[in-house]
Amino acid sequence: MYYNIKRGEIARGCQYCLLGAKAVIFITGLCRYRCFYCPVNREKFGRDAIYVNDVPVKSVDEIVEIVAESGASGAAITGGDPLAVPDRVFLTVRALKRELGEDFHIHLYTKPSSLNRETVDVLISSGIDEVRLHLLGWSEVSVKRPAIFALKQAGISLGVEVPAVPGLEKTIAEAVNRLAAEKLIDFVNINELDVSDSNFQSLERLGFKIRENSVVGSFESAKRLMELISSVSVHICRSKSKDLFQIGARVFREAMINAGENEYVVDDGSILYTEEGVHPNSPTSRSIRVKIKLGGRYLEVS
Ligand code: SF4
Repeated sequence: MYYNIKRGEIARGCQYCLLGAKAVIFITGLCRYRCFYCPVNREKFGRDAIYVNDVPVKSVDEIVEIVAESGASGAAITGGDPLAVPDRVFLTVRALKRELGEDFHIHLYTKPSSLNRETVDVLISSGIDEVRLHLLGWSEVSVKRPAIFALKQAGISLGVEVPAVPGLEKTIAEAVNRLAAEKLIDFVNINELDVSDSNFQSLERLGFKIRENSVVGSFESAKRLMELISSVSVHICRSKSKDLFQIGARVFREAMINAGENEYVVDDGSILYTEEGVHPNSPTSRSIRVKIKLGGRYLEVS
């Protein structure tokens, strides 16, 4: 079984995500970093393109439209580095809050190095709820403490989100514990180190052993890291949970919202309907058809 592990409170953004209630906004593929573990698809990385739940979009208005259609209660802003396009982040957060309500929960991922006076102002004035920093050591974050403090003072929930990299547990834990000791972060999220087409080569070059799309020992590394972290909530989010909840529950939820009166939603999010126009469970139903939403469009599967 693939259970997540937690100690303390799970971040609010994760609570929505685990219910399938978060839309994922890939706000740009632009990013000046070259993290060896970067899982971003090669076709998206470095391109200034926007996707919502993997559907390409062209404008902030379209982002809001697709998020609203999905029935989400919140959104995760990811990339690339979202702070490579701070104005777009501001406009998106404001538009979502204006159209879907101030309670619509929004979190964003970035690196500490992207925090500066301009980006901190943008985050604070946008009304964003949660910011997650990914980092591998104290040197990445020590000079950014005033920026992090400013976000915290503004009431933004702050956390660290890291991949579990075997061998780096001590350096990651040191950074997290120092931030926690200064009360600068509220939570830590640890992800299993996933292997994708984009990071396969660099992970292999660094000597990591790879089996079935994940780095051998990453889950054990996550648990070791959890043990080394004190004074702050920790949540290990397993890769399978992302497939099951972040994506699976989201697809199911969206299908439930969009299904018609005589349509029946299956657990995997596909929708059954009949050519006769009656409910698939009706005794008069004859020819049942199946449709599923892929890339923003319903496709027929028979
Ligand atoms: S900051 Fe994110 S998008 Fe950029 S290289 Fe690192 S993991 Fe990839």
